[in-house]
Amino acid sequence: MPKYFVKTWGCQMNVLDGDKIASLLEELGYEKADKLEDANVILLNTCSVREGPEDKVFAELSRLKKLKKKNLEILGVAGCVAQQEKNAVFERAPYVDIVMGPRSLSHLPALLRQARDQRAMETSDKEDSLLFPPEILRRSHPTKASVTVMEGCNKRCSYCIVPETRGREVCRPIGSILEEISVAVERGYSEIELLGQNVNCWKHGNEDFTDLLDKVSSVAGVKRLKFMTSHPKHFPLEAAKLMAERENICNFLHLPLQAGSSRILKLMRRQYDRKFYTDLVAGIKAAVPGIVLSTDIIVAFPSETEDEFEESLECLLEIRFDSVFSFRYSPRPGTPAAEMEPVPEIVARERHQRLMALQLGIQTHDHARFVGNTVEVLVEGVSKRGGQYMGRIPETIVVNFTSDKALKVNSCHRVEIQKSHPHSLEGRLADGA
Ligand code: SF4
Repeated sequence: MPKYFVKTWGCQMNVLDGDKIASLLEELGYEKADKLEDANVILLNTCSVREGPEDKVFAELSRLKKLKKKNLEILGVAGCVAQQEKNAVFERAPYVDIVMGPRSLSHLPALLRQARDQRAMETSDKEDSLLFPPEILRRSHPTKASVTVMEGCNKRCSYCIVPETRGREVCRPIGSILEEISVAVERGYSEIELLGQNVNCWKHGNEDFTDLLDKVSSVAGVKRLKFMTSHPKHFPLEAAKLMAERENICNFLHLPLQAGSSRILKLMRRQYDRKFYTDLVAGIKAAVPGIVLSTDIIVAFPSETEDEFEESLECLLEIRFDSVFSFRYSPRPGTPAAEMEPVPEIVARERHQRLMALQLGIQTHDHARFVGNTVEVLVEGVSKRGGQYMGRIPETIVVNFTSDKALKVNSCHRVEIQKSHPHSLEGRLADGA
C-alpha cells in the first residue's frame, strides 16, 4: 500500500483540516506512514498567522528535498501558507508538486492525479470546504470531535492575514452540523468542540450562536460541549447564561484580548476597547460563576509604549486568565500593521518575558484552589512522563493522576487533586470514594 504523512502546524482548525486530508488519502487507498522517510506522499499543512511557523515550513521543505530524490513521489503544501504564497511556493521550492489552499481540500484527489505529470495548484477562496462528508472523517484526537461551524473572517484586524488565507465568513447550515455531531457521537465521541475563526459570529437564517449552542447541547450523548474562538465584540450574554444552565456546556471560554491599551486595540482594529472587554468579562463571570478563561496577547505591537504594555499586565492581574497564549508581534507582509513603526526587538523580548513571568505566577497561585477538591476527568491517555493517566476537567485544565486500576481512554472518572502546577493539576483516582 502506498503511504502518506501529513504534518500540521497551527490552530485547531488546521488540525481538523489535517484529519480531513488524511481521511481523503485513506479513502484513496493510502496508509499512514509512521515517519516522513517512509511516505510516498507528504503534505505539509501550514500556518501563516505568525512568522515562526511559516519559516518552519520552508525549513522543512529544504530538508524534504533529499527525500524527493529517493522514494518520495509527491510533496504538497496545503493550508494558509499555500493560500498566501501560491506560485511563490514553487519558486522557493521547485521540487514541490502540489499547492492547495485551505478551502480546496475536496480537490485533493484531482490534484494528486495531476501531480503525477505536472505541478498542480488549487487556491480558490470561493470553495465551501465546510461540507466535508462526516462518514469518511477519521479523527486523530482520542476524545474530542472538532466540528467546523463557520470558516473565514469578515474582520480586518490590522496585523492579521487570516481574511486573505481563509476568505470571507461562511456559516454552515445547522442541519449538517447536527448530522456530523450525531455521526461523531455514534462513534463514541462524547466531547464536541465547535470551531470557527469567530465561532460566535455563526448565523444561519434566523438562528444565531446561542441557538446553535442550545441545539448542539440538546443532542443525546453530547457530554461536553466547547467552542473556539470567540470574538469579544460579538459574544452574547445569552450564550453565557445558557452555559450556566446547561451542565454539558463546559465553563470554559477562550476570548482573545490581544492588548490592554485601548489605543493599541484601536490600531489593531479590534472593534472594542479595554472597558468594553473588561465589562464583558465581568458580565460573563457574573453569569457563569467559576468560569475558566483563556486569552491571546500580542506583546510589542508597533508603537506600543511602556505604559501601554503595562496596561496588558494590569488586565492579566485584574481578569486572572487561566492561560495566556502570548506572542511577540511579528509583521505579516501585506497587512497595515507591517507598515507601522516597530518596537525594538530587545524591548519586545524583555516585555514578553515579563508578561510570561507574571502569568506564570498567576497560574501557580490560582491553580492551588483545586488542591483537595475532587474533579471529573475525561481520560485522554497516559501522561507525557509515563506512569500516570492524563485527562482534562470540563474547563480544559490538564490533570495527571495515578490509578491502581486500568482505565480506558475516553472514560470519565473522579480524581482527587493533591498538587497543583502552573500548567496542570496532579492527583489520584477517587472513583468509589
Ligand atoms: S478577527 Fe481579526 S485576528 Fe481574528 S481571524 Fe479575523 S482578522 Fe484575524
